[in-house]
Amino acid sequence: MQTNWKIGSLFGIPLFVDPLWFVIFGLATLNFGFAYQQWGTSLAWGAAVVMSLLLFTSVLLHELGHSLAAKSQGIQVNSITLFLFGGIAAIEEESKTPGKAFQVAIAGPLVSIGLFLLLRLISSVFSDTSLVHVILGDLGRINLILALFNLIPGLPLDGGQVLKAALWKVTGDRFQAVRGAAKAGQILGYAAIGLGLAVDYFTSDLGTGIWIALLGWFGIRNATSYDRVTVLQETILKTKASEAMTRDFRVVDASHSLRAFADLYLLDSNSQIYFAESDGRYRGMVSVDNLRQIERSEWEAQTLEAIVNPLSEIPTVEENATLVEVINKLENEKLLRVTVLSPAGAVAGLIDRGDIIQALAKKLKLRITDADIKQVKQNGTYPPGLQLGVIAKSTTN
Ligand SMILES: [Zn+2]
Repeated sequence: MQTNWKIGSLFGIPLFVDPLWFVIFGLATLNFGFAYQQWGTSLAWGAAVVMSLLLFTSVLLHELGHSLAAKSQGIQVNSITLFLFGGIAAIEEESKTPGKAFQVAIAGPLVSIGLFLLLRLISSVFSDTSLVHVILGDLGRINLILALFNLIPGLPLDGGQVLKAALWKVTGDRFQAVRGAAKAGQILGYAAIGLGLAVDYFTSDLGTGIWIALLGWFGIRNATSYDRVTVLQETILKTKASEAMTRDFRVVDASHSLRAFADLYLLDSNSQIYFAESDGRYRGMVSVDNLRQIERSEWEAQTLEAIVNPLSEIPTVEENATLVEVINKLENEKLLRVTVLSPAGAVAGLIDRGDIIQALAKKLKLRITDADIKQVKQNGTYPPGLQLGVIAKSTTN
């Protein structure tokens, strides 16, 4: 669901704007426009538009702070998006150490505090009553608020990332650290909803109360999603290929003629995978595509040896490979399945995306039906709510 508008790119990072952001842009312009009326109508509205653009730039620079810190660690930043509640930088993977994670987390607020100080300095050059002085002062304060608000210690806020880095440093366990920081985010989110309702109840300022409650709701949703992704990351990192594979294949004698195999294969209704074996050794996976390339008149004379893809040439993983490795291999090489080999080099099993979902469903007690898994197997894609390709990519060993 890509409804965001691309507006350009900076340092090779594509910039997007959520259409709803223009609502904020409009409200901000109205707010500043009315506030600056003492300088005359046209000047006030002109200044209001400039102010809103500078506000937009401030949020962008904050996100750029996080992004460039990540990039300096060799981490890819996929996009920066401005939306209703601010900005978000889509950083592809976690930093390697708690110290580096802290740098990425703090870089945004540091940019905002830097802007606050810089704007204060510049505004002091202009007379106190000038519009420029007021605009720069307002913008500086907004940057300071942006920094302080973001430092509230709960995910998804930067303060939550800082808390995560600290917990990671103390416990040595990144997953536990994310869960702790996500829990803090959830608690703060509920507190914000409570505060928002209280503001609505005790004051006549309905808008502010609703806004605080909305922020809380947004925080809870995101903190919960962090928690969920972390549980998935931890599980795919700790689950071995041997725990997810199926033995859903058949072994046939490599000395069979192609004709004999074709008869057997055609009788099999559910597109079975075959491995050919002779003298107790696996010769390879039987390729129906290769069979089609051979003249039918040759099918009696030639054996399966002619159409096998040796195990050394097909995509394989070892039994003790993690699901992170398996998922990444399936994605990177655009495979439907991968063959699992035993330590002795024999075929131990097969894994496709459906098998992975099934293994996770069992371990995490997810509510996924057999029909869902069948669909994953047929489509060769993960269900929308369980984008394991993306999750595995961001899981560092
Ligand atoms: Zn930030």
